[in-house]
Amino acid sequence: MTESADPVLVIGAGVQGLTTGVVLAEAGRRVRIRTADRPQDTTSAVAGAMWGPAMLRPADRVLYWVTRSHAEFTALARDEASGVHLAAGRMAARADLGDTLPAETKLIPDLRRCTPAELPEGFVSGYRATVPLIDMPRYLDYLVDRFQDAGGELLLSPVTSLADAVAEAATVVNCTGVGACELVGDPGVHPVRGQHVIVRNPGLDEYFIELTNSEEFVGYLPHGDRVVLGGVAVEHDWDRTPRDDVSAGIRRRCAAVEPRLADAEVLAEQVGLRPGRDAVRVEAERYEGARIIHNYGHGGCGVALSWGCAFEAADLAGA
Ligand SMILES: Cc1cc2nc3c(=O)[nH]c(=O)nc-3n(C[C@H](O)[C@H](O)[C@H](O)COP(=O)(O)OP(=O)(O)OC[C@H]3O[C@@H](n4cnc5c(N)ncnc54)[C@H](O)[C@@H]3O)c2cc1C
Repeated sequence: MTESADPVLVIGAGVQGLTTGVVLAEAGRRVRIRTADRPQDTTSAVAGAMWGPAMLRPADRVLYWVTRSHAEFTALARDEASGVHLAAGRMAARADLGDTLPAETKLIPDLRRCTPAELPEGFVSGYRATVPLIDMPRYLDYLVDRFQDAGGELLLSPVTSLADAVAEAATVVNCTGVGACELVGDPGVHPVRGQHVIVRNPGLDEYFIELTNSEEFVGYLPHGDRVVLGGVAVEHDWDRTPRDDVSAGIRRRCAAVEPRLADAEVLAEQVGLRPGRDAVRVEAERYEGARIIHNYGHGGCGVALSWGCAFEAADLAGA
């Protein structure tokens, strides 16, 4: 049997593990995913989620990953079952954004500066752009179906150590998100806590996202009959329980930009831990005679990078 025909074990069933599983299985590899959590209980299920510029490192790889993912999400938007759709909206800041835009914004055909009248009070600079929005609970179901249709096997079964993983397969892809901190013993991985409030959609079809580095910001993303409201980004906070004061702040900030959200019925509150790291890690290493391909540390952009990283991880796995 050639190495490329060997079975592959993927650890993790968030957006990275499932997308990598899909790419490998559709390339004809025998793939098993082992996950500690059901897909709907992962950080990925909490993400908003939008495709957008990713200010992460390594910059050249991130540009490739985000570009490749844009093409996939744009194509998926033609398939209603995927949970992906293209939406117009605004990305805006309370400070001047200047004229230098990330290179990947060239992928957005209708990108243009907001006129002053298009900016909410308190915002001084922004862009209008049509981008893919991904309804994560539906999208993860779509990925699971696509993975299983390609012959993949999904098991709810935590991996206790890398030795446990390589005992099962000579090729392992590690997509454990913030769990890589413990499984790999990578001290550079840390949680960046996020919280969302999900409300019944009062009639919005445009998104809004505040561009900022601060812990609290405004963001709302409509997905059919629901709108995902955010947000916060708190480094090194492992608490997975929604906090009332955080939800109240999110609702207040969103309503200040979009008054129709002020009285929208609350359907759920959710917390997710973004896998923070200095740089996204997609690379292969030898481990006890086996090959481990790492694919983790995507911070707040794991969905936007998912297809590019999955194709690269699959290449490294010899697919
Ligand atoms: C509030 C919020 C909003 C966000 N918005 C966006 C957005 O708009 N756009 C965007 O691109 N990104 C967004 N993100 C970031 C995105 O959610 C993450 O980057 C992405 O989900 C990471 O995916 P992952 O598959 O690496 O990790 P996860 O989704 O965390 O999945 C990790 C998987 O590994 C499994 N696992 C861990 N350890 C083990 C083990 N020992 N054994 C077996 N399985 C294990 C877990 O059970 C899980 O299945 C957002 C995140 C949050 C929290």
